[in-house]
Amino acid sequence: MTTAGPCGRPPDRAAEPFGIDETPALGHGGGCAARTGHLTMLGVLLVKGEIYVTTRTDRSVDVVVVGGGPAGSTAATLVAMQGHRVLLLEKERFPRYQIGESLLPSTVHGICRLIGADEALERAAFTIKRGGTFRWGANPQPWTFSFGISPRFAGEAATAYQVERMKFDQILLDNARSRGVEVREECDVRDVVAEHGRVVGVRYADASGHEREVRAAYVVDASGHASRLRAHAGTRHYSKFFRNLALFGYFTGGKRLPPPNEGNILAAAFDSGWFWYIPLGPELTSVGAVLLPEALDRIQGDRERALLDLIEECPLIAEQLADAERVRTGPYGEIRIRKDYSYLQDRFWRPGLVLAGDAACFIDPVFSSGVHLATYSAMMAARSINTVLRGEADEAAAFEEFEARYRREYSRFHDFLVAFYDMHQDENSYFWSAKKLTSNTGTELESFVELVGGGGWQEDALLAPGVKGGGRDAAMRQLADIVDQPVRAAGEDRNLLQASLARSVVREGSRLQVQAVMGGNVDEVRPIREGGLIPSADGMHWVRPDS
Ligand SMILES: Cc1cc2nc3c(=O)[nH]c(=O)nc-3n(C[C@H](O)[C@H](O)[C@H](O)COP(=O)(O)OP(=O)(O)OC[C@H]3O[C@@H](n4cnc5c(N)ncnc54)[C@H](O)[C@@H]3O)c2cc1C
Repeated sequence: MTTAGPCGRPPDRAAEPFGIDETPALGHGGGCAARTGHLTMLGVLLVKGEIYVTTRTDRSVDVVVVGGGPAGSTAATLVAMQGHRVLLLEKERFPRYQIGESLLPSTVHGICRLIGADEALERAAFTIKRGGTFRWGANPQPWTFSFGISPRFAGEAATAYQVERMKFDQILLDNARSRGVEVREECDVRDVVAEHGRVVGVRYADASGHEREVRAAYVVDASGHASRLRAHAGTRHYSKFFRNLALFGYFTGGKRLPPPNEGNILAAAFDSGWFWYIPLGPELTSVGAVLLPEALDRIQGDRERALLDLIEECPLIAEQLADAERVRTGPYGEIRIRKDYSYLQDRFWRPGLVLAGDAACFIDPVFSSGVHLATYSAMMAARSINTVLRGEADEAAAFEEFEARYRREYSRFHDFLVAFYDMHQDENSYFWSAKKLTSNTGTELESFVELVGGGGWQEDALLAPGVKGGGRDAAMRQLADIVDQPVRAAGEDRNLLQASLARSVVREGSRLQVQAVMGGNVDEVRPIREGGLIPSADGMHWVRPDS
């Protein structure tokens, strides 16, 4: 199906905020229709059982991001921050429900700060999570770990948040908008456009059901576990080890752990599996049972009865919920089931297309690695795109770096979680497994905390104590002092002084801030494989180690 029509029509800038792109997107020609943004009415079409109303606007941007979850918002923001034109297409209208509420320090203090969402997150006043409390393995007593035990997470980076995803994802999406990403909600991406072995855009149905096509140098598939595009990059392999399913709902009035651990995630193993108990606010608690696949029959009929029976089987959770009531209305009123959620794609990219977050892989809810892997992979996908769009490395080198690092982080969590599901061990054995997997030089406990806090990557300054704007704050204070000084020289142009200083200080401030977040001591950043690339000083793209 192609559109035809008069070339050279002026752009409809109200409908197309980026206007027309007279330059074909990188690596492929957009064709007449793609360059002019005109409309053509073609009628109704049935493709693979789906009805398309074939009014189509062809246009071209640098990057199309599919999905507005944490992976999509992160990737879109980091590419837009480099001045590229990014269109994000999201199927739902936000706020929308999503599971995945317990975050890690690396997401909160690393990536959310890099994309500039940290202050909005602080204002949202989410529950502060200092670590986790586990009734797990051979030890019948609950044990607690705090992120603060690891030097990597010392100081203010020693915490994360428990979030209502409806609010968290909305903040990240609004932040993407404010950084220049064009966000379109209620746009259902149905397929990629491919030419000569390269993905050159996507086809989607917009809010009114009209089929549209947009072309781009890169498509980021961040559409989560239900991705329709992933098969264009490779094959999804479901885990033979992690075959669990989850049944979950929400309660008000649940008890809290004693201070200072009242914001911790509580994970409690019992005969049929394990429970998560996540305090989302003073009143609201997310409660979920993770069960072996054989439990499917048991939970498929009356879900409420099944959840209440399982809670009765687990004394620790039953005690926490003794005075609680199940939420029965609104987005938290439903008891939900998720299954088949542990999988790994055999390829994470192909020319023109890159997979981030759950579109590529997910392991298991224990230790809350989902949003960490989603935002971390999105950051590296953005780096690869930024690198190629700057013309600084060839596509294969940039995206192989992304894939190698993403697989490494996935494997670290995967292999540790396999060891962690061995219920015959005690916590010391789990800590030892973490040390073995991370090759950490600290103690077993420190290695464990670093791994499960998402701080195992080699970008050492990411979570260094006191990184937050340290250099930037000092520079800003210096600027304020200078500007406040009385004019000394006759004719001195205070505004000009202010403007040029402000520009350079802000530039330096941003550099310091980003460098602090992504690799303050760049010397420490080594390639993870022979011939590999390393993050640039500002963390926004890849560079050769010798450059
Ligand atoms: C039972 C369970 C418990 C979990 N608990 C945790 C936890 O405590 N902590 C944690 O970190 N992780 C947890 N996770 C994992 C977490 O839910 C995911 O890893 C995380 O949401 C992935 O983010 P994402 O951005 O890749 O995808 P998503 O958050 O799924 O976002 C994808 C977005 O794409 C949109 N989309 C889908 N299809 C299309 C389309 N065709 N066109 C346009 N848009 C589309 C969706 O509407 C959605 O907004 C859990 C997972 C499960 C199954």
